[in-house]
Amino acid sequence: MMEKGFHYDVGEYKCVVFSDGTLVNDKEVFGLNSLLIDAADHKILIDTGCGDGFQSTAGHLVQNLEAEGIKCADIDRIVLTHGHIDHVSGTLDAAGGAAFPGARFITSEKEWEYWVARPEKSEFQTMLFSYARKDLLPLRDRFDLVKENTEILPGVKLMPAPGHTPGNIIVEISSRGQRLVCIGDIIHSPVELVNPEYLSLFDVEPEQALKTRSRVLNGLAQSGAPVFACHFAFPGLGHINHSGGVLAWQAF
Ligand SMILES: [Zn+2]
Repeated sequence: MMEKGFHYDVGEYKCVVFSDGTLVNDKEVFGLNSLLIDAADHKILIDTGCGDGFQSTAGHLVQNLEAEGIKCADIDRIVLTHGHIDHVSGTLDAAGGAAFPGARFITSEKEWEYWVARPEKSEFQTMLFSYARKDLLPLRDRFDLVKENTEILPGVKLMPAPGHTPGNIIVEISSRGQRLVCIGDIIHSPVELVNPEYLSLFDVEPEQALKTRSRVLNGLAQSGAPVFACHFAFPGLGHINHSGGVLAWQAF
């Protein structure tokens, strides 16, 4: 599915949202968006989409990057917010080689440890673990594992947002008085703002996920900072507002 990149500057950083397509379950259709931060000296991609072989509605990130003249080899850093299939399976190409040959990967130490070392507890988790290990382990030498609250470029910070997964991170971009907060999978659709107790099947630590969600979303509603939401309808950019005591999504 071809979708043009959506351009959104944050101070000195030229940001572009690219679609990987959509994810469909029996009830809902979710967006699947990645963010490119063009920082003159670096091209940083946040999450890599599904790659081939997950859902035919997704896996279009590379095609959409190339349509804007961005080659995979141009991307020199990739931040993975967490290790779920829909964020990491684009790391490998169809032949099992590195899809982004010049990129180093950045994720939290805690997230890496979770996916690599933690024993499976259920059949569902076993399935998720096997995907993550397939996509991540062959690239171990390319990973820089960071502590939480790491600044990877001036004003580009990785911050802990545990619960959805233990080492889940959100990315805050600040430059010249402008901000954009990439909330990853803190929530998956605007409906969840109205039902804050809703848990995704994918939330690994449900109680912690609810705490983090409440802290992050209320903070964003208070600050009014622009938000990039990975799973909202493309391009997933907007604000979170307080409206009549309830949080609501206001797309740009
Ligand atoms: Zn996701």
